[in-house]
This record gives sequence, C-alpha cells and structure tokens, in this order.
Amino acid sequence: MKVLKFGGTSLGSPDRLKSIVDIVLQEERVLVVLSAVSGTTNSLVEIATALHNDDKDRAIDSIKKLHNHYVKYVENLYETKAKKEEAHKLIDSHMEFIMSFTKDLFTSHEEKAILAQGELMSTALFQFYLEERGQNSELISALDFMRIDKDLEPDLFYIQHNLERELTPLKEKQVIITQGYICRNAFGEIDNLKRGGSDYTATLVGAAIEADVIEIWTDIDGMHNNDPRVVDKTYSIERLSYNEAAELAYFGAKILHPASVYPAQQKKIPIKLKNTLDPQKEGTTIDGDNREFKFTAVAAKDDITVINIKSGRMLLAYGFLRKVFEIFERYQTPIDVITTSEVAVSVTIDDRTHINEIYEELRLLGEVRIEKELSIVCVVGNFPRNERGDGQVLLEAMKNIPIRMMSYGGSEHNITFIIESKYKTEALKDLNKGLFDL
Ligand code: ASP
Ligand code: MG
Repeated sequence: MKVLKFGGTSLGSPDRLKSIVDIVLQEERVLVVLSAVSGTTNSLVEIATALHNDDKDRAIDSIKKLHNHYVKYVENLYETKAKKEEAHKLIDSHMEFIMSFTKDLFTSHEEKAILAQGELMSTALFQFYLEERGQNSELISALDFMRIDKDLEPDLFYIQHNLERELTPLKEKQVIITQGYICRNAFGEIDNLKRGGSDYTATLVGAAIEADVIEIWTDIDGMHNNDPRVVDKTYSIERLSYNEAAELAYFGAKILHPASVYPAQQKKIPIKLKNTLDPQKEGTTIDGDNREFKFTAVAAKDDITVINIKSGRMLLAYGFLRKVFEIFERYQTPIDVITTSEVAVSVTIDDRTHINEIYEELRLLGEVRIEKELSIVCVVGNFPRNERGDGQVLLEAMKNIPIRMMSYGGSEHNITFIIESKYKTEALKDLNKGLFDL
C-alpha cells in the first residue's frame, strides 16, 4: 500500500482538488493524508488569537469570511444538488462549532479543537467528491489512531495498533482518506503535530503500515540544490539520503517537515517528493545512505539568534559547557549550532520564547552577548575526514560574506555557516556559483 500526502495548496481550489483525485485514482490501493485547504489553518489561528484576546467581533468576522470561502468552494466542487447540500450542511456544522467558542470561556484546549477543523473539513469534502464520482473510498478519522504522549512525541505503538484496527475492515477499499496534522494527546484531548505537521502524519502512518512508499505531493518538483525563492537557477535533486534530507529540511528547505524523515528512515521506507502541477516529473526520492556527490545542496533558515558566552572561568575548567547546556535544557530550547574557543562559546537557537530567562541565568556564568537577525546557511554533501580541500572550496565561494560562525566536523555530511541575514541572498548566490557552477 502507498501513502500519498497532499498539502493545502493542492486543495487550494476545487479544480486543484479534482486534479489530485486523478493522481490518487491511478493507485491500486492507497492511504491519502490531507492538509487543510490552503489558508484555512492560518484563518483558524487568527480566529483563536482573536478569541484569546477576547476580541469576539473580530473572531466572528473571520469565521464569516471563512464560511463564505467554503460556500463558494462547495458550489464549484460538486455537480449534483444532493452532494452540494450534504457538503453545505457539513460546512455549516463546522462553522457553528467554531462559532460556539465565541460564547464560552476560551483556553488552549479550545484552541486546538478549532485548529483541527481545517483538516476535518478538507477530508470530508474530498470523501464527498469521491462518493459523487462513485469511487470505492472511505474516510477514517485521525483522532481514532493518531496520538502523542505526555512528552508530545508520537506514540508509535498506539498509532500502529489503532490504525490496524481501523484498516482491517476496509481491505476492499481502493482509497482510504485521513487527516494530517491532527491527533489526540496523552489525555485523549484533540491536539496537533504543530504547523506543517501533515507530512509527519504521512510518514508516521506510512511507518505504521509499512507502506511501500510515502509520497509527499506539493507544488514543486522535489527538493532543490538551493533555495528557488532566492536563487534563479536551481535544479531538483533526484536522490537524497535520509540524513541529507533531514538536515536540509531542518535547516530551511520548506518542502518537508524536518521530523517527518525519521519514521520513514526507521522502517527504511522511501519518501518521494512529487509535484501536483507536474505529476510526470520524477521529483526527489529520499532513501538509503549518503550518496556520492561532493556538494548535494544548500539550504538557509532565517530568524536565528546567536548567544555568545565568554568567561575567564571556562579556561582550563571542566563542567562549564554542562552548566551552559543545562540552562537551555531547563527552558526546553534546542541549540542548533555550536562553536567554541577556550574562553568563549557561541550557540544558535531559533526559538526565542525563553530568551530573557536564559539570558539572566547565563549572565551568572560570564559575559553574555545576544545577536539577532542572523541566518543559518547549511551545506550538505560528502566531506570525508581524510579528504583535502573541501573547506577551501567552500570558503572560496563564501569569500565576500562576513562569517559569524562556522561549524565543520560534527558530521561528514554537513558544513554550516551563520551569517547576518542581510547577506543571505548573496551567500546563496555565491554558493550556487562556487559549488554548482550555476
Ligand atoms: N494545516 C496545517 C498547517 O497549515 C498542517 C499542514 O498543512 O501540514 O500547518
Ligand atoms: Mg507543508
């Protein structure tokens, strides 16, 4: 069985939805994971924020706008009066549900229930459409098998067990549809896998059923060697290892949720990145170990903060780094890149939620400097330990860019630079020329 995941833009209009149905129906038996229709989750976040701020008028206004959007969508999607009515009823009931929160107390529990409505609507509309076309399909609710534990990590055992129960009676169905992103938490409440989490649903589900392949369908023909939004000439990479894909996704390639690589890697299931606008294109296949390329790809991530801690006490001292790291651990703030000298250490973070508390505690260890508006530029490829000259090629390409930090040697497949964000475009262009001759 294959797992096919489609993102919000692939459902962005009734015509787009119809074209992905054509892709789905080419498969013998398939589990389809869907995001919300594009823009919907953002609207739901807006509504929830307004309710948090007790701005009911604004929330009601946004709900009405969202409702109108779906009314038009339904009118253009279905042929028959009966299906249109059924779909309007469904949308009405979701909108009433969202509206009900304008009357009650609003907490983060209600917020998660609101955020779940996008995927619940998109999958139901999709199933109605297949029904109208007389297809052999069934909708199953992710809330019946997707679950995160008390550390907010997916509970694989639970997912596998419960998904199997859901799928067993559906052996004769060609298409099975479910929601990406949404799940239940350790208390059985509605929760989610965080923004962009539908990819993660797809690979978790793929791993649970040991799918033949997990296809992530978006609007671009796979992962590119450089950021196509910034650099003119880029190309789609045919094959990537799991590790390369995870690094690129984490360090800025927006096409794939970074956590989603791991479940597929554990079960050795290939992930394919495909383009709904050009389904014939091969796209990118992610599987196996590292490839032969010297330089595979470059990705960049903005809004990075560097924290530099300088201390006389670090000199010849042990335990200093532990104290530093413990502070980040206490505030559940992941560190991405680290560089050290004998008297100072620089670390990068991208979650600034607890920066003030972290700053106050670090100050007790030494002199602390915080720099914002930085970018990570990550170069993925093969840099074996005994090879000469890789660093030189990279530094030559980066020679016009002031480098704030550089990390080399953590793995043989990644070299990372931290630069001021204002130099990012230039850096990506220079690397495109220097590494890929483009
Ligand atoms: N609809 C959710 C979001 O917009 C999940 C996803 O699309 O992956 O973040
Ligand atoms: Mg996405």
